[in-house]
Amino acid sequence: MHYLSTRGGIAPIGFADAVMMGLATDGGLLVPAEIPQLDAATLRAWSGLSFQDLALEVLTPFVGDEIPRADLRALIDRSYATFTHPEVTPVIKTGGQRILELFHGPTAAFKDVALQLLGNLFAYLLARDGSQLNIVGATSGDTGSAAIYGVRGKERIQIFILHPKGRVSPIQERQMTTVLDANVHNIAVQGTFDDAQRVVKSLFNDLPFKSAYRLGAVNSINWARILAQTVYYFYAWGRVSGGDPAQPVSFSVPTGNFGDVFAGYLARRMGLPIERLVIATNRNDILTRFVKTGVYAIEDRVHQTLSPAMDIQLASNFERYLYHLHDGDTAQVRALLGDLQDTGRLSVDPARHAQVQADFSAAAVSDPETLDQIRATFASSGYILCPHTAVGVRAAQDLPGCVCLATAHPAKFGEAVREAIGQEAPPPPSLLGLLEKESRCVELDATPEAIKGHLQSVLEVPT
Ligand SMILES: *Cc1c(COP(=O)(O)O)cnc(C)c1O
Repeated sequence: MHYLSTRGGIAPIGFADAVMMGLATDGGLLVPAEIPQLDAATLRAWSGLSFQDLALEVLTPFVGDEIPRADLRALIDRSYATFTHPEVTPVIKTGGQRILELFHGPTAAFKDVALQLLGNLFAYLLARDGSQLNIVGATSGDTGSAAIYGVRGKERIQIFILHPKGRVSPIQERQMTTVLDANVHNIAVQGTFDDAQRVVKSLFNDLPFKSAYRLGAVNSINWARILAQTVYYFYAWGRVSGGDPAQPVSFSVPTGNFGDVFAGYLARRMGLPIERLVIATNRNDILTRFVKTGVYAIEDRVHQTLSPAMDIQLASNFERYLYHLHDGDTAQVRALLGDLQDTGRLSVDPARHAQVQADFSAAAVSDPETLDQIRATFASSGYILCPHTAVGVRAAQDLPGCVCLATAHPAKFGEAVREAIGQEAPPPPSLLGLLEKESRCVELDATPEAIKGHLQSVLEVPT
């Protein structure tokens, strides 16, 4: 399988290069040159597989012959051995809905499904090439800990995660800083998440520094993350449909960067019978407005909501969908992105807008509706939703039997849950005792000089 850029500016590359490249060097996103097509017999056969066996089958056509099957199998097994549920991503029936629990990994949020695999893939490919990778990233909460857990203790990888001091929740801060492996470097910076993000961007823009220090990212646009997330759509369909290809299933997906819902779109393009694919957003509703109007228009600011992992202005994976919507016409993708850059908005023609509405449903859910949904689900079934999951459940209220993706464990968002139902969810083992554990973190100014100096001293690269 070869990979291309959504902007048409790179020669085709293989899977390993696509994973290591992350963002395409022309600024676009990497997409597979073709989408594998599954027939009904294959779907039926896959429906009885374990999560790990299914992951091996789903990944194989995308990996091609670049990783021997036995090695890929070992990578997958290692990645999901850290999950505490035997099914990895079980489907729970509660009231009229189904919940696809994606939070049984080490940080109790769905990003573990992708980042456990990505960490192992990085370690495998680096060992094969005899090279090193220094991951640098900024986090507003969930991504940092999932990335740290993805690479902790791995050879040839160091990870530096910046978080805004005092502005992530105590649990989120502790999830990161209590990881004491020698290759994990937590940095609390004075300022906001945007300040931290700006510093990271300036390091990546300093190309000589970036290459001398072998900097890499784990952001949500890495192709391997999308692939890993595609697996649970197949898994859930198998559990719910009993493997009958004539039985389509609908999914509702709490959405921020469009990564998770794009994985569902990919599964459907491969042939998975998905009926409705619901984009569930909070008040930051650029994607919902796009589905309704065909216009993707940036608002003046990001709104803070009870579902903070979805407080995102621009969805970084959206470009992949634009590419497919325009049948791989990279000139059109570039023109639309130019419009967005120049005017803060882009719009698709009426025929394509009709296609968007065939591909997705969408709903924006307010904070009061989110709390009301947590309350209603708890009252009717005793099941506690995290606020992100509640957004997805509310958005699917007219779709009985819909599979709603549960993106975080409710104990991670205790305040919102308490506000809704007057009590918090019992924490899973991974969140117990965090406040008492030993922690390690350095405090630095949010300036490129301070962060570069720190990287230099840790990595001892001669300047
Ligand atoms: C990251 C995240 C999301 C949004 O996922 P995207 O892939 O960015 O759309 C939703 N819920 C939680 C809990 C998250 O951490």
